[in-house]
Amino acid sequence: MLPKFLYHAPETIHEALELLNKYGREAKLLAGGTDLVVDLRERKTRPKAVIDIKRIKELNVLKYEPGRGLVIGATVTYHQILEYEPVRKKYPVLWEAVKTVADEILRMRATLVGNICTASPAADTAPALLVYDAVVETASKNGGRKIPIENFFTGVKKTVLEEGEMVVSVTLPEPPADAKGTYLKAMRVWSEDLALVGVAALVADGGKDVRLAYASVAPTPVRARKAEKVFREDGDIREKIEKAVELAVASVSPISDVRASKEYRLHLVKTFTRNALNRLLGVEAVVVA
Ligand SMILES: Cc1cc2nc3c(=O)[nH]c(=O)nc-3n(C[C@H](O)[C@H](O)[C@H](O)COP(=O)(O)OP(=O)(O)OC[C@H]3O[C@@H](n4cnc5c(N)ncnc54)[C@H](O)[C@@H]3O)c2cc1C
Repeated sequence: MLPKFLYHAPETIHEALELLNKYGREAKLLAGGTDLVVDLRERKTRPKAVIDIKRIKELNVLKYEPGRGLVIGATVTYHQILEYEPVRKKYPVLWEAVKTVADEILRMRATLVGNICTASPAADTAPALLVYDAVVETASKNGGRKIPIENFFTGVKKTVLEEGEMVVSVTLPEPPADAKGTYLKAMRVWSEDLALVGVAALVADGGKDVRLAYASVAPTPVRARKAEKVFREDGDIREKIEKAVELAVASVSPISDVRASKEYRLHLVKTFTRNALNRLLGVEAVVVA
């Protein structure tokens, strides 16, 4: 049983903002509901009003324009993202990350914007958005903001969103022409599990522009900027990869929980980062007998 709440289904962003303004902190937005309904059922949240944004057509935008990038509106589902060819072609890290989320049934309902607004450290889309330098666009009665994804998360299940503010869309700029990348996720079982560790890696500019980001290894998703810098210097590629792996491990602070120990997570950060970089930089792995 769900607790009682007032249900609203506005049809425009303007109406949604009016409602957010009216109820303030006592309102909760509902997109796919796959996080919110669980929280309502478990009484982790008791809003006076639930504002269902699924009927707002302006929020169902999924559009790629060469040179300008990809816009993902707040009600766009994972299923829509997977089916949209430009995502698979131009943003493979995001496509791979979305493909690891739960199963097809959940992906028909749940949204990428809901994923980042929940702000779980294990959010699978966050590392991909980090390596593509995504920007979160918001709206409120006081106007909108454009927030770089790296500044969006402030703690476990916390974001910079203020009372009365909602996310309208997320924009991923055009990636570098030669960019390639991958998302590696460790789970206890294949499908329907949150990440023990998630690693997004992107390589461009002939191997000089390397981007690394992680899920489930710190209070917020993190980008390993120090590790990335290694590739801007000259030197032996194998040595650079090992140095980057070391710095990536130093940039995370995992905890032990029901899904994995801190030590195992650190081990996964190490091996996944090395594997992703070896593959993307065309370095053959050394097999130790
Ligand atoms: C069985 C199961 C498996 C799962 N597996 C995974 C997984 O593998 N990986 C993973 O990362 N997650 C997983 N999740 C979590 C969840 O499905 C995702 O986080 C999903 O993307 C949430 O999107 P939603 O549209 O359902 O969000 P909702 O539940 O509708 O909303 C989530 C939160 O965001 C807020 N919100 C929604 N839209 C906006 C907006 N536009 N502006 C501001 N706030 C907003 C809501 O108020 C709520 O607090 C799983 C959940 C379940 C139940």
